[in-house]
Amino acid sequence: MPTTLREAPAKSPASDALHPSHSSGNESARTVRAPRGPSLTCKTWAAEAALRMLMNNLDPEVAERPADLVVYGGRGQAARSWPAFDAIVDSLRRLAPDETLLVQSGKPVGVVRTHADAPRVLIANSNLVPHWATQQHFDDLAAKGLIMFGQMTAGSWIYIGTQGILQGTFETFAECGRQRFGGDLKHRLCVTAGCGGMGGAQPLAITLAGGTALIADVDPAALRRRLKDRYLDEVIDSVDAAIDAAVDYAREGNARSVGVHCNAVDLLERLLERNITPDVLTDQTSAHDPLVGYVPAEMTVAEAAIVRAKYPDEYTAMSLATMERHVRAMVELQRQGAVTFDYGNNIRQRAFDHGYQDAFAFKGFVPEYIRPQFCLGRGPFRWAALSGEERDIFITDHEILRLFPAHESEYAARLHKWILSCHKYPDALLAGDFDRCEPKFRFQGLPARICWLGLGERHRAGLLFNELVATGRVAAPIVIGRDHLDCGSVASPNRETEAMKDGTDAVSDWAILNAMVNIASGASWVSFHHGGGVGIGFSQHAGQVIVADGTPEAAARLERVLTNDPAMGVFRHADAGYDDAQQCATRARLDVPMQDW
Ligand code: NAD
Repeated sequence: MPTTLREAPAKSPASDALHPSHSSGNESARTVRAPRGPSLTCKTWAAEAALRMLMNNLDPEVAERPADLVVYGGRGQAARSWPAFDAIVDSLRRLAPDETLLVQSGKPVGVVRTHADAPRVLIANSNLVPHWATQQHFDDLAAKGLIMFGQMTAGSWIYIGTQGILQGTFETFAECGRQRFGGDLKHRLCVTAGCGGMGGAQPLAITLAGGTALIADVDPAALRRRLKDRYLDEVIDSVDAAIDAAVDYAREGNARSVGVHCNAVDLLERLLERNITPDVLTDQTSAHDPLVGYVPAEMTVAEAAIVRAKYPDEYTAMSLATMERHVRAMVELQRQGAVTFDYGNNIRQRAFDHGYQDAFAFKGFVPEYIRPQFCLGRGPFRWAALSGEERDIFITDHEILRLFPAHESEYAARLHKWILSCHKYPDALLAGDFDRCEPKFRFQGLPARICWLGLGERHRAGLLFNELVATGRVAAPIVIGRDHLDCGSVASPNRETEAMKDGTDAVSDWAILNAMVNIASGASWVSFHHGGGVGIGFSQHAGQVIVADGTPEAAARLERVLTNDPAMGVFRHADAGYDDAQQCATRARLDVPMQDW
């Protein structure tokens, strides 16, 4: 270790999230798991759902590092500290039906009298005034325990494990296959890295889209975890042997995934040395966070933990230097013909800031593959069964397929393909034989499902679920939420709003309006965050979660929220000049006062 490294100041208890190898003292022994079943421990189902989903985020099956309250995405936390977690739980348990809990960066700071239709919780995480919105300023505050990184669904309590991102990742790779290879990804070698909370969905999504996956991760535990959860088929430690196996599988058209235990840069530079060009290339290491998310070359995870804790500035410099090499290798492979895209971790910006002028030679996945859906108000729609019973998810799966028949549209056909691919016995699901249904991929924590739905569809699904609760077909209420990565909820110029037609990539009014619309419409809890996905200074975004508890009041809220929330995506893209969004606004009879298109 270089002797010139400058030591970090002593860490405060609140900075545990910075030190992945350290648990929070005695708390490492603490196991959190959401209550299950139809009995309330809070005064309303909205508060109960918030409590269960907060706890579910920290379930060891769900969270990446629950002892440190870290859910996913580098250091995305559910609460600022264990005392803050306990205080949130306590507040939710006593929250009256006309009260709202205020959470500031993972700490409960107040309870106010509102009304029954208002959100039960309002959450603001990681927000800084733009001029001060730097990683350094954030880290200084975090070290003093004054702020917390909420990522997107960690601090807003609607992360549902890797499955949450699986469907979106599948959409991306399936769309890549359709656009670039005229069908699926069969016979295509897809290379990527980062097998963590979100990135761990990549190997399964690639194989579901027909391709062969080769994925590097520097942490063998991350690979083992995906192997156990059947998101990954095999792990090979030698880089050359892993490349050989993946090349063979791709040639045979074998949709199989290979994990390789190495730094991403070592895999890509070896591919270049061997003159092997992947068909598809991307990356989901936690490059948005050079200190905690990314591991520099020539360092093991254990060494990284030591250097990170003692010499954070030098660690960050080493990370950025490796990221530059990493992006250079990606651009080189792109020049050799690999279909290359950024997968939302801001690695291009890091390499660019480190002096690599061509870092933006490849585009982001949103303008490439996702924006057409955003124009229709389409985006992620997830739900969890508060009963804890898998059967409830099977019932909702069955009903959602009936609600949107496959022949109705290309998207409905994709929805069927996706939901059926989540089942070991699709025929049982179609027949409504729920005793015979089994999930193909393990549920993590509370049983949950995700799909993508658009404007005009989301509220119908919400009302359907409310009816299933009202009639007792499912055993307890259903909670419905979404990622902040959605059509009208985020400003992120290197990701969701990259290359907007009218150049409004960095305008965050839309994300703020989205949060306000969801509050006004009566979502159960609403969050506004900064820095998710791409890191501090690079994004602002909003989330909403709403509970279907079977009551008529919930039905009214569900209809409002699940109409107005996706409508924001249509307003946003119509205003930016996208024809599809303008036509969608007209078809859906959205009221747009100034149709200046
Ligand atoms: P994570 O922190 O849980 O996992 C990151 C993984 O990368 C870890 O397993 C780590 O060991 C590995 N890693 C770090 N540096 C590496 C290196 N140099 N070489 C090989 N492996 C390395 O994070 P996550 O939740 O999986 O998210 C990954 C990234 O994707 C984040 O930047 C996140 O913001 C972004 N993200 C993208 C989307 C999207 O839809 N595109 C969604 C969520 C998150």
